Amino acid sequence: NIGKTGNELGFNMFVVGGFVRDLLLSRQIDDIDIVVEGDGIEFAKTYAKKEGCRINTYKKFGTAVIIYPDNFKIDVASARLEYYKTPAALPIVEKSSIKLDLARRDFTINTLAISLNPDNFGTMIDYFGANRDLKDKTIRTIHNLSFVEDPTRIFRAIKFSNRFGFKIGKVTSNLIKNAITIDCFKNLSGLRVLSELKQIFEEENPIPAIKTMESYGLEKVLHKDLTLIPNTYQLLESVNKILSWHDLLYMDEPYPRWAVYFMAMLNRCSYKVCEQICTRLNVPLRERGILLEKRYKAEKQLNLIESSSTYTKQELYWTLINFKTEYILYMMALVKDEEIKKAISNFYTHQRGIKPYIKGRDLLKLGLQPGPVFSAIIKQVLNAKLDGQLKTRKEEIQFAA
Ligand code: ATP
Repeated sequence: NIGKTGNELGFNMFVVGGFVRDLLLSRQIDDIDIVVEGDGIEFAKTYAKKEGCRINTYKKFGTAVIIYPDNFKIDVASARLEYYKTPAALPIVEKSSIKLDLARRDFTINTLAISLNPDNFGTMIDYFGANRDLKDKTIRTIHNLSFVEDPTRIFRAIKFSNRFGFKIGKVTSNLIKNAITIDCFKNLSGLRVLSELKQIFEEENPIPAIKTMESYGLEKVLHKDLTLIPNTYQLLESVNKILSWHDLLYMDEPYPRWAVYFMAMLNRCSYKVCEQICTRLNVPLRERGILLEKRYKAEKQLNLIESSSTYTKQELYWTLINFKTEYILYMMALVKDEEIKKAISNFYTHQRGIKPYIKGRDLLKLGLQPGPVFSAIIKQVLNAKLDGQLKTRKEEIQFAA
C-alpha cells in the first residue's frame, strides 16, 4: 500500500537503510525507514488517512513518523532538493534522486534501498557496494572525509562492527586513526558522543566494542586521564554476566543497561575525573546523578555491607530497597564475597517483592492513631515477614496487635 499511495501521488518510494541491511542479515527488524522521492510529509498525511494511522510531522526536515494503532512506527524522509533561483524567490522543490540521500549515509552497509512502487516492487538498489561489504563482513565509509564530517560515525563504526561481528575495513580504520589524530572531536557536542556511547553500552555485549574503542585511544576523548585497566575489564565482564542473568529472568522490567556499563567503566576514576567526563559529555542532570552521587552511594553501601560481619537479612533489605535495579546489578557485579552476592541476588529475586498484607486501615481497626507509629509497625511486620515468622494476614494482624 505504501507503493500504491506513492504511485497515486507520483512519488517513487523506497525502504532503506537499517531495515534492508537487517533483512539481508536475517536479523530482527525494529523499525522501518522510508525515503520518498518527493514530499514525504504529503505522502505520510495521505497514507495515514487511508490506513487510520496517526502522524507526527517535522516540516523543517521534511520528515514524518507514521504511527499505527498498535504503535508500530514507520519513519518517512523526503529525498528533495530545495533551491532558490533568486534570493527573494520561492524555493523550487525538485524530486532528487534516492542516490543523493543514500550518499549522505554513514557506511556502505546502510545504503541499500528497495523500491516499493508496484511497477518495480522489490528491486534492490545498491550504488555503493553494500552487498559486497555485507558478504565480506566489512564496515566501510562511503567517502574519505566521512569521519571528519561527522566524528560520531567513529563510534557507530565500532557499534556495527561489534554487533554484526564485522571487521572495520583497512582504509576506513586508517580514516578513523587520521580523524582522531587531527582531534576531530574538539568541536563535537558532548551530547552526540554520549548518545552514541549509550547505544554501544545498550548492545548485548559491548565489551569487544569497548576494547576496540580503547585500541583507537577513544577513551582519551572522554578524558585524558581515563585508563582502562585489566580490573576495569574484569568488572565489565562481571556486569555482562549479571545483566545477562537479569535480562533472562526479568525481560519486562526495563532499566538503563547503558548506565551499569558506564558506572563500571568509571569505577576506578576519581570523583573529579568522573565529574569532568560528565561535563564533557553534557550528561543531563538526572543521569549525572546516576553516574556520580548515586553510584558513589551504592559503592559506599556495598563497602559497609562487605566490611561488616553482622549484617542481617533485614538490614540488607532496608539498605537495598533504596536502590533502583541498575545499582543493585552494579553492586552484584562489584561484590567480591560470594555469600553477599547471593544475599543481594536473593533480595532482588525474592525479598523486594515481599509486601505486608496489612494496611493502615487494619491498624485503625486495632484502635491505633495514624502517625509515625503506623510506619514503625508496618516496618516491624515486614521484618518479621522477611524472617519467615509471619505467613498469613491473620498472623500479621495478631503480630501488630
Ligand atoms: P539501529 O539498528 O542501531 O537503529 P540503524 O541503521 O537503523 O541502526 P539509526 O541510528 O536508526 O541506525 O539511523 C538510521 C539511518 O540513518 C542509518 O541506516 C544510517 O544510514 C543513517 N545515519 C544515522 N546516523 C548517521 C550519521 N551520523 N551519519 C550518516 N548517516 C547516519
